[in-house]
Amino acid sequence: MAYLASPKATKEIIEQFQFVFQKRFGQNFLVDANILEKIVQAADITEEDFVLEIGPGIGTMTQYLCESAGQVVAVEIDRMLIPILNDTLSEYDNVEIIQEDILKADLYALLQKRSHNRPIKVVANLPYYITTPIIMRLFESGIEIENITIMVQKEVAERMQTGPGSKDYGALSLAVQYYADAKVELLVSASCFMPRPNVDSAVIKLTRHPKPAVEVNDEKLMFQIIRASFNQRRKTLVNGLKNASGLSFSKEQVAAALQKIGKPETVRGEALTLSEFAMLTNELSRNIGE
Ligand code: SAM
Repeated sequence: MAYLASPKATKEIIEQFQFVFQKRFGQNFLVDANILEKIVQAADITEEDFVLEIGPGIGTMTQYLCESAGQVVAVEIDRMLIPILNDTLSEYDNVEIIQEDILKADLYALLQKRSHNRPIKVVANLPYYITTPIIMRLFESGIEIENITIMVQKEVAERMQTGPGSKDYGALSLAVQYYADAKVELLVSASCFMPRPNVDSAVIKLTRHPKPAVEVNDEKLMFQIIRASFNQRRKTLVNGLKNASGLSFSKEQVAAALQKIGKPETVRGEALTLSEFAMLTNELSRNIGE
């Protein structure tokens, strides 16, 4: 079995297939076996598991996943990589390669139907610009995913773990904390990739809570409120939420709801914790339909 996790093996495959790296797809392939072993270990993958790999590239991490998991489905957007994956993964009979944009994929068909009730885990070395939409889609799909172990830009990993008072605190922090427990598993230097990215990376593991961290009457409304608050970070909540797109609360309604949860009228969204956003949503949702 020819393993790809080295600069030499990766270079050989790239030359053999005359593959041209596509910047627009964020293609930086891992070439460090030690890091790959640690990622697979962090993801807690067993033979029972059904694993979705997003963006397998030439299949470097997929090889490790196939050796640990029961079944792997690998979704790759770049059609030029499909013949390469068919070659590099030819010895495994527990992998399905799908050419598709994960942001457009039917997650129910991809995961729920294929998994046959096995625990679902997601592993990815993601292109950085699609980190947030992918995580949100996976969580909001309602599919029971046990954990998501992903390589992200170091700053994004920090953003997922932070709370009020940090400049990195935002909608992503709140979404991750609502759905999951986030833990940075390892930091990865640019030299572990080919070509080298301009940023440092981190592997973060998101373990889904059995039920969301806070109780809220209207989850969708809470995330609309959160997004609206951070879209206009510098405004007070009273000013940020009135007339925000998709919301129809008056200044007075927001002020009254804030008062009910013990917050001043001048408070900004960035000062509220997840449970305060939930309380605010519960207060505001009483106004809908009144
Ligand atoms: N997993 C490989 C590795 O670790 O070496 C490749 C990682 S590379 C950072 C990101 C991969 O995601 C590339 O193969 C890229 O073509 C693929 N990709 C980018 N956008 C995608 C999308 N929307 N859906 C599926 N795959 C995508």
